[in-house]
Amino acid sequence: MGERMNRVIEIPAYLTVRELAQLMGISPIDVIKQLMNDGIIATINQQIDYETAAIVASEMGFEPEEAAPPIAEEAGEEGPVPLWERLYAREDPDRLRPRPPVVTVLGHVDHGKTSLLDAIRRTDVVGREAGGITQHIGAYQVEHNGRQITFLDTPGHEAFTAMRARGAHTTDIAVLVVAADDGVKPQTVEAINHARAARVPIIVALNKIDKPTAQPDRVKQQLSERGLTPDDWGGETICVPVSAKKQIGLDDLLEAVLLVADSHEIKANPDRPAVGTVLEARLDRSRGPTATVLVQNGTLRVGDALVAGTVSGRVRQMLDEHGRPVKEALPSTPTMILGLSDVPLAGDIFEVVPDERTARAIVAQRLREQESRAVQAERVLTLDDLSRSIREGAIKELNLIVKADVQGSIEPIVTSLERLGGEDLKINIVHAAAGNITESDINLAVASRAIVVGFQVAVDPAARRMAESEGVDVRLYDIIYKLVDEMGLALKGLLEPTYVEKVVGRAEVRATFDIPKVGRVAGCYVREGEARRNAKARVFRGDEQLYDGHVASLKRFDKDVREVRTGFECGVGLEDFHDLEIGDIIEFYVKEREEQPST
Ligand code: GDP
Repeated sequence: MGERMNRVIEIPAYLTVRELAQLMGISPIDVIKQLMNDGIIATINQQIDYETAAIVASEMGFEPEEAAPPIAEEAGEEGPVPLWERLYAREDPDRLRPRPPVVTVLGHVDHGKTSLLDAIRRTDVVGREAGGITQHIGAYQVEHNGRQITFLDTPGHEAFTAMRARGAHTTDIAVLVVAADDGVKPQTVEAINHARAARVPIIVALNKIDKPTAQPDRVKQQLSERGLTPDDWGGETICVPVSAKKQIGLDDLLEAVLLVADSHEIKANPDRPAVGTVLEARLDRSRGPTATVLVQNGTLRVGDALVAGTVSGRVRQMLDEHGRPVKEALPSTPTMILGLSDVPLAGDIFEVVPDERTARAIVAQRLREQESRAVQAERVLTLDDLSRSIREGAIKELNLIVKADVQGSIEPIVTSLERLGGEDLKINIVHAAAGNITESDINLAVASRAIVVGFQVAVDPAARRMAESEGVDVRLYDIIYKLVDEMGLALKGLLEPTYVEKVVGRAEVRATFDIPKVGRVAGCYVREGEARRNAKARVFRGDEQLYDGHVASLKRFDKDVREVRTGFECGVGLEDFHDLEIGDIIEFYVKEREEQPST
C-alpha cells in the first residue's frame, strides 16, 4: 500500500474506454495513452474487459474493484422474456386496480385529429381551474364524470406503430377520426389496420358534423365495408358524431371511451416500482435532459432510480402537464421527469430499479448487447427463417403486409396469398394497400413480426434503411405468380436461402509462429478491408488456393478481437490449417443472403 489511499472505483466486467475515463474522472485521451503504454491500441468507444481496465486504473492511481454483475434478464423457455411482459402482463390479479384508459387519436390527414385533441383538452375545466400553464408534453389527462382519461397527444398511426415497433404498448383505445364530409381515405384504412394489428379497440369519431356537406350515413356505410359496423346499425363499433370546431359531441365521445374501457379490464398494480414508456424527451438548456413518461404500472416517485432504454438516472423532479411539481405519478399518468443522465428515445421502456448503481450496471450491459447486436443485425422474421420454422412446426400464423402498385392488384394478391394458408398455418394480411413501401409499413412489420411483400412497387430510401437496421424482410416481385409461388414454397417449408459470398478483407502473412497445442498462427498485416473473427477464410500462395475454411482465432496483441482494420497488424489462426508461410494472403469472406432482385 502506498502512502496515500487510492480512490476505489467499481469497474464492470466490460466497459468502453470512454466509460472507464468517466469513472476515473479523467480525459479519455489519457486513458488511451496509458493503454498504448501497455501495448494496447484502443479507440474511445472500444470495449475493454475488467482486467485490462483494472490494470490501467491502478496504474493511474485508483483502486479497482469488480462491480456486481447487473440483474440478469430473466430467460424463459423461448429465450429472454421481453421486459414489457415481465413487468406488466404477469401481475398478480389480486393486486390490480382500475386505471384510466390511455387513448390515441388516429385518422386521415386533415380529418381533425389535432383539432379534436385540442377540443377535448379544453373540456377539462378541472385541470384548467387548478392553474398552471398548459404544456404539450406528449400526453394529457382529462376528467369526465369524476374519472380520468389519458390522451396521447401525438396523433397518427405512424407515431403509434413506431412506439409499438420499439416494444412499447401504450394505447388501450384508438379513437379513429373520420371527417363526415370526406369519408374513409387511405390513411383511415392504414389506421384501422394498424390499430387492429395492435389488437386495440376502435371508437369512431365522425368529425366535422357541423359542416353542411357532412354525410354521416355514407361514412357509416364505408366503415361497415371495412368491418367496423356502427352499433346503431347492429354492429359493435361505437360511432360518435362530433365537431371539434364547434365543440359538439365531445362528452359523448368521452363517455364512449369510458364505456369501452369498462369492458376491457384496464387495470394496473399501483403498489410496485414504476414501469412505463418514454413518450417524448429532449435536452432542455437549463434543466438538462427531460423526458415525459407514461407510468403504466406501479407508482413513480421523486427520488426513484430508473433505467430508460440506455439512459439511467434518478428522478430529481416531476412535473405534471401544467408544469406543476408532483411527488408521485400513478398508473396511466403522464409526467415530465428531470434527473436523467442523458436523453432517452421516445418509445423506450423505463423501469424503476433499486438504486442508481444498479441502473448504471443495467445500462452498461444493454450498451454491450447493442454493440454485439450491431455486428450481426438480427432479423425480425425472414422468409428463410420462416421456411425453417415451418419445417420444424414452430410457426402457426404468418403475418404479411402487402403493398402493390395499384388498388386493382391488391385483391388478387391477397386472395391468392390467403388461399396458401391452411389448417396448420394461418395467413394473416395485417395491411394491404397501394403505394410504395414506407417507414410506416416497416414499423408495422416490426411491431407485428410481419414480412413485407411488394408487387411492382419501390421501397422508400428511409424505409429501406430502416428495414436493414431492423432486420425486416422485404420481398419485391414483378410478376404475381412468382410472388405467390415463392410464398407458397416458403409456407411449405421448402424455400432454401441462397447465399452469395462477399470478400470483406485481405491480410498478408508477415511472420509465423508455431504454438504448442494450437499449431501455426500468422502475424499478419491487413492490406484492405478488415480481418474478421467470424468470417470464413481462404489462403492463397501466389495464384494457388491452399485452404478454404474457418478463422479459429483473431488477436490484437494478446486480446481476442472481432475485427482488425486496414493498416493494422493482427494474429490469425485458422481451423485445421497449419502450413501458413510468409507472403501468403489470407482472404476473409462472409456469406450473405442473396439480395432480392429489386425493381
Ligand atoms: P389533422 O391533420 O387530422 O390533425 O387535422 P386538423 O386538426 O389539423 O384539422 C384540419 C382542418 O379541419 C383544419 O382546418 C380544422 O380547422 C378543420 N376542422 C377540424 N375539425 C373540424 C370540425 O369539426 N368542423 C369543421 N368545420 N372543421 C374542422
